[in-house]
Amino acid sequence: MKLNLNIQPLESWFDNGGKPIIISGPCSAETEEQLLETARLVKETGKVNILRAGIWKPRTRPGEFEGIGVEGLVWLDKAKKETGLPTAVEVATAKHVEEALAAGVDILWIGARSTVNPFTVQEIADALQGVDVPVLVKNPINPDLSLWIGALERINRAGITKLAAIHRGFSSFEKSAYRNEPMWDLAIQLKTLAPELPIFNDPSHICGARELIPHIAQTAIDLDMQGLMIEAHRDPSVAWTDAKQQVTPAKLAEIIDNLTLRHSDSDNSEFTDKLANLRNSIDRVDDLILQKIGERMALVQKIGEYKRDNDVTILQVNRWEEILEKRMTLANALKLDKDFVEKFLEMIHNESIRKQTEIMNTSKSEVN
Ligand code: PEP
Ligand code: MN
Repeated sequence: MKLNLNIQPLESWFDNGGKPIIISGPCSAETEEQLLETARLVKETGKVNILRAGIWKPRTRPGEFEGIGVEGLVWLDKAKKETGLPTAVEVATAKHVEEALAAGVDILWIGARSTVNPFTVQEIADALQGVDVPVLVKNPINPDLSLWIGALERINRAGITKLAAIHRGFSSFEKSAYRNEPMWDLAIQLKTLAPELPIFNDPSHICGARELIPHIAQTAIDLDMQGLMIEAHRDPSVAWTDAKQQVTPAKLAEIIDNLTLRHSDSDNSEFTDKLANLRNSIDRVDDLILQKIGERMALVQKIGEYKRDNDVTILQVNRWEEILEKRMTLANALKLDKDFVEKFLEMIHNESIRKQTEIMNTSKSEVN
């Protein structure tokens, strides 16, 4: 399945010569001084393409700083005039859309807490009817690809063709080093469903801690994401929101300098040949893996029939433990990741059980 989005190529509305687009600026606009100084420092790095600032902040608890509001839009416009950087803000209501557009904001984004709610997304989409402005849609808080897709579709159907997604990680019950689990596979699935849709990455909200940002930013670049949104503040230690994850503009420059940029294609024929050879080898190995899984399932079929004919239960716990132990010793010797192999074997085992259950439910005569 492919998504049916009508979008313009990224280069047609933001041409950065094929380099990742860097969006940076404070989590929140706090004071005129803070915003203008941060904007100046960010501009001076020479590495930032778009200036961001949160004007309306979705906060978990009431009473926390909920954003400076429209007043901040005036400062943002000043920052834009001074630095020449186009600006981006988060919008969560029709009123935000109107106020941001009236104040000359160049790019709008929809935050993770809005993407989860189709009513909110539709309200924003309705306010965008007939407007020609780029819109970036962050993934929803929860790991639900359909909600993300639904939001992109709603905005696209309102006529927004300068559209991109922002991967900012997903809330997870399990504790981890990250504020929001990257769950890269969801972003990859989106890319597969809509190859023409640009996807940016937001390492700041994935990490929640500035030390982790370089690693996530590099992974995003390695996955061919077209941009990064990284929060920067003139003095992160005193930031009113997301203090732990913001970096100084100097640190931002260092992070960007240290990124290894890769190309998804190359004109170099030696490289292309080598890549084609490696891909052929991978294709062959994948075929072998599938053939072997087919062979294994044929054996499972036989065992299932045998167990059924002899009235033996499907699952013998000892046998499964023995399988796991033997395979893990081999996996370890092959230097394969333990978690990966365990998950892989468990999937195969579950499929074997499913197949045998099916066989158990056929009568002896049906098969013979
Ligand atoms: C933000 O960008 O400051 C923000 C609130 O992000 P998210 O919607 O990803 O939480
Ligand atoms: Mn933030």
